[in-house]
Amino acid sequence: MKNLIVLGSTGSIGVNTLEIVAAYPDRFRVVAMTAGNNIGLLEEQIRTFRPEVVAVISESQALQLRQRLGSGAPDILAGVAGLMACASHAAGHMVVSAIVGAAGLVPTMAAIEAGKDIALANKETLVTAGPLVMAKAAARKVRLFPVDSEHSAIFQSLEGHRRRDVRKLILTASGGPFRNRSLAELRQVTPADALNHPNWSMGRKITIDSATMMNKGLEVIEARWLFDLPAERIDVHIHPQSVVHSMVEYIDGSVIAQMGIPDMRTPIAYALSYPERLPLKIPQLDLCQLGRLTFEQPDRQKFSCLGLAYDALREGGTSPAALNAANEVAVEAFLKGEISFLNISRVIATVLDLQRDNRIEHIDDVLRADRRARTRARQAIDDIS
Ligand code: NAD
Ligand code: MG
Repeated sequence: MKNLIVLGSTGSIGVNTLEIVAAYPDRFRVVAMTAGNNIGLLEEQIRTFRPEVVAVISESQALQLRQRLGSGAPDILAGVAGLMACASHAAGHMVVSAIVGAAGLVPTMAAIEAGKDIALANKETLVTAGPLVMAKAAARKVRLFPVDSEHSAIFQSLEGHRRRDVRKLILTASGGPFRNRSLAELRQVTPADALNHPNWSMGRKITIDSATMMNKGLEVIEARWLFDLPAERIDVHIHPQSVVHSMVEYIDGSVIAQMGIPDMRTPIAYALSYPERLPLKIPQLDLCQLGRLTFEQPDRQKFSCLGLAYDALREGGTSPAALNAANEVAVEAFLKGEISFLNISRVIATVLDLQRDNRIEHIDDVLRADRRARTRARQAIDDIS
């Protein structure tokens, strides 16, 4: 029996994770879960999965949950302290890190510190604090299993091969809803247009990141730390069918890829049950019906967020944390109608230009850079609007 701690249980990844747990009750048990919103769904999840401890963001949410659950309620904690207590809960063997955004960093670090293996969906953890997270994981002998489909594909394509034989990684990207729109057309697009992803059903933030291609930029940074390769050896190909989830090119010219239909349950299940594969009730990939798979270079002018992410990665230190924080603020402002789609990258570029003190020795350096970048991003948004 593997005891799971699910951080972000009410989100898109959280719900898919719990679906796998429900299908394999003899293998997995949920001992702790946390959520930031949707208390109604959380209540339902608690009744179904009976965790020992739960954490929510605010005391008022905790109170509300206790009232709804009555005498059957588990321990219900609140705030960052509650999140960290859940993340390091003694009974847990593995933590599914599925909070969205930089808010996932501190609890994921607490889980690593407590020696729990991580099924990592929260890419922002490695984007903001990659070198610190990898060092801590090595020191605590913790394994990070990628949930992000691209990184799961690379992880699978590396299995059984020598790392020194790798020439480069190729991350695939669907290109999102705006792949075929011109730069001029991108000026007009609305949040509803951007939330309409052609292949994947995901949370709002990552869906906007897919439309700007910042998601792929964040994934390049995530891959840099997860697989210990420099930016120059990580490429991005647009692949609109989202069937080849990513590839590894070897020194002898071999390219090994992992394929499947776009469904997050496959990489989630693999992270949970590695090295075993679980039978999943999902549609089969039918390549003959699909007919063809296509690949093209990303348009870096239209999707300048991708270049900004490479810039931040090359800059190093806390630049990726600043990039990520500025992106979170800009995406939120776009969703609220405060800035246009193309101004998302403008805000991020402004914040990166102001980034100076790049020291990254301690998690506090990251949190400071994150706060500073958020303030600067809000300033940039005010200046624009
Ligand atoms: P989501 O918005 O659907 O869910 C996020 C979860 O985190 C929810 O449970 C929410 O309540 C919780 N949360 C939000 N803010 C919080 C805060 N400040 N403190 C504590 N909890 C908070 O997001 P998602 O799409 O499931 O994505 C989760 C993570 O997984 C992201 O980092 C994303 O990049 C990554 N990811 C998602 C997918 C996908 O298919 N959805 C694929 C690859 C990677
Ligand atoms: Mg991905």
